This record gives sequence, structure tokens and C-alpha cells, in this order.
Amino acid sequence: MQDNLDKIVIVGAGTAGVNAASALRQQGFEGQVVILGAESVAPYQRPPLSKAFLAKDKPPAATLLKPGAFFPTNGITLEMGQGVVAIDRTAKAVLTKAGVHYPYDELILATGSSARRLRCPGAGLSNVCYLRNLSDATRLHKSLRSAKSVAILGGGVIGLEVASAAVALDKQVTVIESAGRVMARVATPSATNVITRQLKAAGIRFALNARLARIDGVDGQARTCILESGEAVAADLVVVGIGALPNQGLAVHAGLLCDNGIIVDEAMRSSDPDIYAIGDCAAAENSYYGGRIRIETIHNAMVQAQIAASSICGVRIPDAAPPRFWSDLLGMKLQGLGGLTRYDKLVAFNGKNGVETEVHAFAGDRLVATETINLSKRQSELSKLIHPAE
Ligand code: FAD
Ligand code: NDP
Repeated sequence: MQDNLDKIVIVGAGTAGVNAASALRQQGFEGQVVILGAESVAPYQRPPLSKAFLAKDKPPAATLLKPGAFFPTNGITLEMGQGVVAIDRTAKAVLTKAGVHYPYDELILATGSSARRLRCPGAGLSNVCYLRNLSDATRLHKSLRSAKSVAILGGGVIGLEVASAAVALDKQVTVIESAGRVMARVATPSATNVITRQLKAAGIRFALNARLARIDGVDGQARTCILESGEAVAADLVVVGIGALPNQGLAVHAGLLCDNGIIVDEAMRSSDPDIYAIGDCAAAENSYYGGRIRIETIHNAMVQAQIAASSICGVRIPDAAPPRFWSDLLGMKLQGLGGLTRYDKLVAFNGKNGVETEVHAFAGDRLVATETINLSKRQSELSKLIHPAE
């Protein structure tokens, strides 16, 4: 650790930011650690928001990332409701919306990502919803109870998890997806087939290779999604899950190199060596993908938080582990390991009920990624078999 390091400022109080603060303390950093978070509530976990939170009759309390006492006990200053609006790299300070300057010796950007917004006629109708944070989830919980028909735009992770919650509430659910299959970003065709079949059996309808032309409304409320094919889909609630974009505006304005994320090296250092970026906002080299990639998972946010803290504290960076991801869909737990971008062969094994599934993705003869459905016990063994990309 450099002797002159006294103050580390972390922008963003999500999984990446909070874990970075925790890791700095675990690795012996004794100076000041300040987390500045734009949201006004205590740091919480996002994964339950598209799962248990929507399913329960009454919206449950948010699942906190750390108990409230964690921050004072560890000498971490947590300032919520303090969105950062600018970085002054010359003065080495950040400026909050309220006009407060926080000087730093090292700065960690953990600003996460935001939902991509829909742009089409009707996109601004009042019952067109997104799901990124606790207030979105609270609103969606209420809207789901009063809707009869739900159209979901985007068959990715948000789309299918919300569709699962909606059909369990006996709603008429249609998923509108522009690609030829759902979950194409995170799952192989083998896993997609099993998931689609089960969700269809539960009553979810899929419109694939489908593009939305407009949303028609009555009195400012969405009623019908009109597809480019002319098909009309009933929708007294529209949920949009068409991807996430990195929150990189601060970095761009500060002149840091960005390209679909803040570009960082293997130590999570940006093009300014005193500024790190981690989590959903960072585009980092990943040996399992064989190149630079921005990953939007809890596992990635936690791993990169450890790497940045290790690098700042001058301790050995942890060995790379295969990327991990999971999704819960109507009694199916999908779990992915490794990098799913560069495979040329898939081998799939189906077990009980045609649901239990294990998929191996190979590049040549190297196992580069695996997927399972309802086979959680296989994860640690599979993780040991996966090789980085070459
Ligand atoms: P975030 O969690 O987005 O946190 C960033 C924080 O920074 C936010 O609170 C934001 O308000 C704050 N911020 C942004 N700009 C500023 C600023 N200028 N000043 C101050 N603060 C700022 N991943 C999985 O692996 N499994 C799952 O099952 C899963 N489920 C999910 C369900 C939902 C509904 C969502 C939205 C995501 C889910 N994810 C899941 C993805 C996972 O939550 C993210 O990858 C993870 O939260 C990324 O952590 P992060 O800290 O980088 O970003
Ligand atoms: P995804 O990228 O997973 O999926 C978006 C899907 O929408 C893609 O299939 C995309 O197709 C499709 N799409 C894009 N534009 C349109 C359009 N105009 N009409 C119809 N389909 C369209 O993003 P999500 O929105 O599902 O998720 C957003 C964030 O939430 C991510 O960070 C994700 O990690 C996180 N999340 C994670 C969960 C998990 O890991 N279990 C659960 C819930 C959320 P194409 O790729 O061809 O553009």
C-alpha cells in the first residue's frame, strides 16, 4: 500500500461499491473510506426485486447488503442521497449534486447501469414500467395486482423473471422479443428450449422475432401493444426489459476512456491510475471471455470489488474464477458458469422431468462454460473443469 493514501472515495452504494469498502477494511486499509450513493435508501440487493419481492402479497422490506451497524463499526462513512455530478481530476475531488466536494487519494467508480429506455409512440404512457431499483419494484408490485394482461418487452432476464411472477398471479402474459429465442445474451439454445417449453406450459405466450411499432392507450394508460407485423397484444401493463446501459457519464465527462463501460485494466484501474471502476459500469479484460467485456452480474461486482481493493492495498490480486450467473424462473434455477461467447459445440444432458439439464459448451476440446437447470449441487465441481479462453 502506498504510505500517502489517506482517503478513498467510492461513488455508488450497490454491490460493487459496498463490497469494495468492506474489502478495503479486510485488507488492512486504515484511512478514510467514504461511500457516496445517489439513492436515498440504505444499500440493498437487487436480485430479489424481480423474484420474491414481486411474488409476495405485500411488498417485503428490501434485503440489505449489510446490516446498518456494519458501516459505523468498520469506520466507513456512508452518505446516501449524495449523487456525484462531477469529478475534478486535477484537484482530485468529486462534487455532489448538493454542492459538497469530497477530496480523494484514490477514487472507485461503482455507478452500475440503467435500464435502456423504450423509444416508440406510446412509450411515455403511465403504465409502461421498468425494473431497476426498489422504487420501480414497489410500483410494479402494485401494478401487477391490478392488471389483467401484461405485455413484456424483451425476453431477457428481467422479462422472463417478471413473466414468471405475473403468470403465477394468473395474469395473461405475452413476452415480445426481437430475437429468435429468449435469454440469448446469457443462455445457450439448449437451456432456452427447456425454459421456453416450461414457461409456455405455464401459460406464457411468446412473440419471437417481433418488433414493437407502438403502444396504444386510453386516457394516458397503455391498453394494446401493436407489433410491426400488425398483431395487437392486450396490455394493461407493459414491462420493459430491453437491456442495461453502463452509468459512465461521470467518467466520460472527466475524460476517462470508455467504450460500452469505463475501460479498466486487470487491476480495475481506468485510464487515470488514481481512478478505478468496478461492477456493471466497468469494461474489463476477462480471461474466461478472452477479451474485454462488461458483465452485469452480482458475482462480477463482488470479484471486481476484491480486485480493486487488493490493488489499492498492494496485496496479491485473487486468482480469476469462472464468471457466474443465476436466474429463478417458475421453479427452475438456471445457473451459468464461464464465458458463453466463444463456443463451437454444445453437449446437453437432460435428467428428471425434462427439466433438470446440464449443458457443456466447448471451444475445440476445451470446456469454456456450463449451464445447469435445477442442478445446484453440480456448481463447484463444474467450476473446477472450466478453462479460460485462449
Ligand atoms: P448497481 O447495483 O446498479 O449499483 C450502482 C449504484 O450506484 C446505484 O445505487 C446507483 O444509484 C448509484 N449511482 C449511480 N450513479 C451515481 C452517482 N453519480 N453518484 C452516486 N451514486 C450513483 N445479477 C445476478 O447475478 N443474479 C440475479 O439474479 C440478478 N437479478 C437482478 C434483478 C434485478 C431486478 C436487477 C435490476 C439486477 C439483477 N442482477 C442480477 C444484476 C445485478 O444486480 C447487478 O449486476 C449488480 O447490482 C451490479 O452491481 P453494481 O454495484 O455494479 O451496480
Ligand atoms: P437483457 O440484455 O438480459 O435482455 C434484453 C432482451 O431484450 C434481449 O434479448 C434483447 O435482444 C431484447 N430487446 C432489446 N430491444 C428490444 C426491443 N425493442 N423489443 C423487444 N426485445 C428487445 O436485459 P434485461 O433488460 O433483461 O436486464 C437488464 C439488467 O437487469 C441486466 O443488467 C441484467 O443483468 C439485470 N437482471 C439480471 C437478472 C439475473 O441475472 N437473474 C434478473 C433481472 C435483471 P437483443 O439482445 O437482440 O438486443
